[in-house]
Amino acid sequence: MITSALIKKFGTLQTPFYYYDLDLLRSTLDEIRKHGIEKGYHIHFAIKANFNNRLLQIIRDAGLGVDCVSGPEIERAIEAGFKPDQIAFAGVGKTDEEIQTGLKYNIFSFNCESLQELAVLNDLAAASGKKANVAVRLNPNIKAKTHKYISTGLMENKFGITPDKLPELFNLLPGLTSLNLKGIHFHIGSQIRQLDPFLQLCEKINIIREQFEQEGIELEHLNLGGGYGINYANPDEEPIPDFKSFFELFRQNLADTENQQVHFELGRSIVGQCGNLISKVLFVKKGISTNFAIIDAGMTELIRPALYQAEHRVDVLTSDKPKKYYDVVGPICETSDTFRKDIELPELQRGDLVAIRSAGAYGEVMSSSFNLRKKVDAYYSDELV
Ligand SMILES: *Cc1c(COP(=O)(O)O)cnc(C)c1O
Repeated sequence: MITSALIKKFGTLQTPFYYYDLDLLRSTLDEIRKHGIEKGYHIHFAIKANFNNRLLQIIRDAGLGVDCVSGPEIERAIEAGFKPDQIAFAGVGKTDEEIQTGLKYNIFSFNCESLQELAVLNDLAAASGKKANVAVRLNPNIKAKTHKYISTGLMENKFGITPDKLPELFNLLPGLTSLNLKGIHFHIGSQIRQLDPFLQLCEKINIIREQFEQEGIELEHLNLGGGYGINYANPDEEPIPDFKSFFELFRQNLADTENQQVHFELGRSIVGQCGNLISKVLFVKKGISTNFAIIDAGMTELIRPALYQAEHRVDVLTSDKPKKYYDVVGPICETSDTFRKDIELPELQRGDLVAIRSAGAYGEVMSSSFNLRKKVDAYYSDELV
């Protein structure tokens, strides 16, 4: 909640900056605990969505593990106090050094994305006298109904091993004596708002699991990845995603998992709504058919609009004048540095503050120094009261 006292406080701070509502993060985690963890599911936070230490502490204390996609993310997770047996490690292009990092800590699972990676991991594990815990990431060929850049579960995407390679995998496995195959892993994409693709995923998994069982391979765990979406258009209507329906779907559609652990890797749905990018209007300029509100935050602080045509809600914090139409744009020398086009906002003037909402996931962590911009500060609800 952005109260008037908070807006006053914002006015004293150097903009732009990130503001995190830690109470909302805690309430979100409560829902995950109630509908996921307490029902026996294992939840890993996809640390790439936001590796901010304050958030990581709260997520760790709520009993979640971590899903990493790089060696430095594994190191960051360990520093933040997560246990190695809570760490899954995915990624299509793990370097030898990153694999060594995972081996050093004896992590819960290397989620391997190709047959060649399995062979390399086996060699590196053998050389260091270790056995690596492995899940194979399979590509289930499911359309995630999301932006094409964040769809990952189609055959044409670079991720995972396609099911036609399963016979080859089964031939290879007995020779990979430094690997413990523990599970199978899936992740079909991100910002998936309908449950239908997850239903299709359950159906595919039920079939694929049988293929492993027929080979006499017992799987200790299924990892279903993440990808659950958030409401960017109306964050106040749905500040916490409907985790009850999400987990319920898997309970109803994943065949007998009594003897199997079920893992999830959620990123955006955990931290997305608790982050806001607060920015100041620098100039208002009249265009031919619209007005430009030029703000001091740009694609360097939040690249999602430029990269995925994402639309974040923009709330004006310091004006309640009659509305006008604006293109809300950043200062960066790129036309794609546009947050919103043609939206109605209370009339703006130089110095007004705006909140770009739902910026907690893939926001601060994707910031860049393009145009030699400085990394912006982050503030937290518990220190600004
Ligand atoms: C990015 C990623 C996730 C998290 O995705 P969200 O859409 O943020 O939930 C989970 N698993 C893997 C393997 C990923 O790459």
